[in-house]
Amino acid sequence: MADSEFPTGTLMKGKRGLVMGVANKNSIAWGIAQQLHAQGAELAFSYQDEALEKRVRPLVESLGNEPFMVTADVTNDESMDACFAALKEKWGQLDFLVHAIAFAGKDELVGSFTHNTSRLGFQRAMDISAFSFVDAARRASEMMPSKEDGGGAMVSLTYLGSERVVPNYNVMGVAKAALEASTRYIARDLGPQGIRVNAISAGPMRTLAMAGISGGRTLMKTGKDWSMLKEDTTMEGVAGSALYLLSDLGKSCTGEVLHVDAGFHAVGVPDIEE
Ligand code: NAD
Repeated sequence: MADSEFPTGTLMKGKRGLVMGVANKNSIAWGIAQQLHAQGAELAFSYQDEALEKRVRPLVESLGNEPFMVTADVTNDESMDACFAALKEKWGQLDFLVHAIAFAGKDELVGSFTHNTSRLGFQRAMDISAFSFVDAARRASEMMPSKEDGGGAMVSLTYLGSERVVPNYNVMGVAKAALEASTRYIARDLGPQGIRVNAISAGPMRTLAMAGISGGRTLMKTGKDWSMLKEDTTMEGVAGSALYLLSDLGKSCTGEVLHVDAGFHAVGVPDIEE
């Protein structure tokens, strides 16, 4: 989707934020970045490693501004230190954070959760997909303005597998439950500073992360067929919700997990044809 297809405006004018989790043009983080950019935000991008830099740089450059990109492997404290030190040096202050990062091993995203989850796999999924938000939120909050000066906003990305059992989602569902609970705890801690912290629970979308889940195609099809809107979750919908939560439109909204999945989460029984 081209930048121009995202509604333009000034809702994010004067705001600077870090977007974590762009891997390629299909990344949810990239859709959100384009929407925020179209509303005037100034963006910094963190990417996992040098290998991804080549893919991310042309995207960031396509936004037209001087690219501000930093490496941040969320499993590595020194890498996170360096990322936030670079941000501090460049901007001093941060207004928002987008966290769109998750990982679990392929072997763990298939079959029996009970039998296929190793200690290491559990720790890794939790570390990368849940703790990384706690860590990034703490670091970002230390750079955000006081409540009187506007506070800040953060958003993370989650999925319904945290609340309900989804075949093969397994350890990632458990990590997403931890991410959502963390979102609420962080929201309470940072509330007095005027920082709002929310999560978007997106329906299935075709991304690299989705490709790692066994049976992803069926998840996509069911996500559409059983949804209330009878359509796939769209990047515009997810990015628009991020814009709402990160801009002043989202005032008073914090500690929330917003479902953006064409209504799928609220369906108890799919259509009955008799
Ligand atoms: P994606 O593969 O484009 O993004 C995942 C990102 O996580 C990548 O940029 C990857 O580099 C990053 N990452 C993984 N390990 C990392 C590490 N150690 N350090 C730094 N970065 C690391 O896929 P996506 O679908 O856009 O995923 C973004 C977020 O959205 C994830 O939290 C995912 O769980 C969530 N989500 C995705 C869907 C979906 O259907 N695609 C649905 C709901 C929620």
